[in-house]
Amino acid sequence: MISVEEALEKVLACVEVLKPERRPILDCLGQVLAEDVHSTIDIPPLDNSAMDGYALRAEDTREATESSPRYLVVVGEIAAGSMPTKEVEPGTAIRIMTGAPLPEGADAVVKFEDTDEVSRKSSKEHLSHIGVLCQAKKGLNVRRRGEDIAKGHLILEKGKVLRPQEIGVLAALGHSTALVIRRPIVAILATGDELTSVDQPLAPGKIHDSNTYTIAAEVSRYGGIPKILGIGRDSVESLTEKIDAGLDADMLITSGGVSKGDYDIVKDVLAEQGEIGFWTVCMKPGKPIAFGVIKKVKGRRMRKVPHLGLPGNPVSSMITFEQFARPAILKMMGRRILTKPTIRAIIEDNIANTDGRRLFARVTVTRRSGQYRASLTGPQGSGILTSMAEADGLAVIPESSKGVKAGDMVEVQMLDWGEEQGEAKTSPIVSIVGRSESGKTILVEQLIAEFKRRGYKIAALKHSHCGVIEVDQPGKDTWKFAQAGSDAVCISSPRKLAFIKKSDHDLRIDEVLPIIGPEFDLVLVEGFKKSKLPKIEVHRKELGNDLLCSPEELSAIVTDGSLDTPLADSYKLPILSWADTAAIADFIEKNFVLASRNSAF
Ligand code: AMP
Ligand code: MG
Repeated sequence: MISVEEALEKVLACVEVLKPERRPILDCLGQVLAEDVHSTIDIPPLDNSAMDGYALRAEDTREATESSPRYLVVVGEIAAGSMPTKEVEPGTAIRIMTGAPLPEGADAVVKFEDTDEVSRKSSKEHLSHIGVLCQAKKGLNVRRRGEDIAKGHLILEKGKVLRPQEIGVLAALGHSTALVIRRPIVAILATGDELTSVDQPLAPGKIHDSNTYTIAAEVSRYGGIPKILGIGRDSVESLTEKIDAGLDADMLITSGGVSKGDYDIVKDVLAEQGEIGFWTVCMKPGKPIAFGVIKKVKGRRMRKVPHLGLPGNPVSSMITFEQFARPAILKMMGRRILTKPTIRAIIEDNIANTDGRRLFARVTVTRRSGQYRASLTGPQGSGILTSMAEADGLAVIPESSKGVKAGDMVEVQMLDWGEEQGEAKTSPIVSIVGRSESGKTILVEQLIAEFKRRGYKIAALKHSHCGVIEVDQPGKDTWKFAQAGSDAVCISSPRKLAFIKKSDHDLRIDEVLPIIGPEFDLVLVEGFKKSKLPKIEVHRKELGNDLLCSPEELSAIVTDGSLDTPLADSYKLPILSWADTAAIADFIEKNFVLASRNSAF
C-alpha cells in the first residue's frame, strides 16, 4: 500500500504539459496563456468623456454655483464613435456623450446633472446656451488616452490562467484568438456487466452507469475534453476493444473492475497492454486503484497513454478522481497550482478512523462567527453518491489518526473552490523553545522590540502549561462570565481583543493560529515544543549541555555560552549568541520571513 502523496507523485510523473495551440478566445476560458501579449494600441485610443455632459474649458466655470451659474455657448454635439469637428473656444461648450472623444480646447466634462439642461428643456428654452452649476477642475470626467492599456506594454504574461476578464482584455486588444496550452482529451470508460446506459430501461439486477457522467463532468470542470467510450463488459475482449478506442486520448480513465472480485479484470488488461503503476493506495474510500501507462504502436510511433483505473463505487471513483485525475489534468493544462484548496474547520461529528488509512469524509461546510464548521453529510458508504451531492468538502482524517471527536479541528478540501484559493496567506512563524529558566521569555521580549524597530507587525504567542491563564482579573465581567460557565469569553474594546476559550485538550498550534489571523509579518511563539513549527532552542550554559529538542527539529541554537561550545560541532546547527538580539533577528528574517515571501510567489 502506498501513500496518497506517493501515488500522486507517480501519476504526475507520467503526464506532461501539453503543447500550445491557437484557439478562438471564447474557447480559452480556464486555459493557460502560452505567449506574452503586448499591446499595439492605446486603450482608450483618445482622451474621451467618462460622462454624458458638456465638454468645456475648466477655467470658464470658475466660481460657478447653482445660484450663480456660468453660461456658455453650445457649439455642437459629439456622440460616441464619431470624431469632433469643432474646437471648444473660450466661453463655449460642446454637448458630449460617454466615450466620445474630447474635442480640442476642452479639458473637462461637466455632467448633465450639474448643468441647467433639464430645466431648460422643460421650459422649452433653446439649448444654444447652457448654464454650468458647479466649478470644474481640469481633467474632471476625462478618461485619458492609454490610461487603461498603454501601447507597447506587456499586458498579459505567459502562464496566466485566462478568466473572463483576461478574455475581455484580449478582445479589447483586438485579438480574436490566443495561444494557449491545449486542453487534454480524456477518454472515459465505465466497466461492469451490471451497467446500463442512461437512455435504456433497467432490467432486473442492472443499474444505470453514473460514473461516466460524474467523471466526464469533472473532466470538463477542470478544463479537459471528455471522450466517452461507453460501457465495457467484464471480459478481456470487451475491455481490450473499448480501451483501444481511447488510445488517441491524452489520458484514459476507467471505473470499476480494479478490486479483488472475480470479474475485476481491468488490471489484467492493463498488465497485458502496458506497465502497471500501483494497485492500492492508503486511502478510504478508494483503496483499489490501478495506474499505469498503456503502450500502443501507431504507425511508426509508440504512444504512451496514462491510464487511471478508478474504483467502481461512485463515491470512491469521484474522490480518487479529485485526488489523482484532477491534478494530472491541471498539470497537462499547464496550471501551476495543483493542490486542492483546503480550510481548517471545527468538525461537528465524531469520526472514527479504524484501519489506518487516510479517510475522506463528506461534509457540508458553514461559516459562523468567522470560523468554519464541517458536519457529515449522513451515511458515508462509498456507494452513496448523494453523500457527495450534499457535500461542500472532504474532511481529511490522517492515516496516523484514530479519528476525531466533535469539536476537533480538521482539514477540509473544498470541492468547489478554485485552486488559487488554496494559496491562503499565512503569517511566517518561528517558535522559541528551551528549558524552564533558559531565558526564552526575555529573548522573545527582546526580539519583539527588535522587530518592532524594523517596522514589523508582530504577534507573540505563548504556550502555557498551567490551567489558569491570567488574561483577566477575578471580579472583572469576563471572569464572572467564565465563572458562570461560559465556554468561551471574549472582550473587545475599540482597540483590543482578548479571547479565552476552554478546551478539553492541550490545544495544538493549528487550532490556535486561526484565531491569531494571517495579517502579521511574523508570529513569534514561545513554547509548543511538540509542534512541527520551525524552532530555535534557547540554551543556557549553567543548565548543562543537553538540548530539550532533538537537533534535527531545530533551525538554530541560541546560547549564552561561548560560541566554541562542543554543541557547535556535534549538532551542525547555526549557533547564535543570546546577547546579540540583532543577529538572531537577522537569522529569523532571512530564514523565515523572507523565505516564506519567496515561496509565496
Ligand atoms: P467494481 O469496482 O467494479 O467492483 O464496482 C464496485 C461497485 O461500484 C459495484 O457496486 C458496481 O455496481 C458499482 N459501479 C461500478 N461502475 C459503476 C458505474 N459506472 N456507475 C455506477 N456504479 C458503478
Ligand atoms: Mg465491476
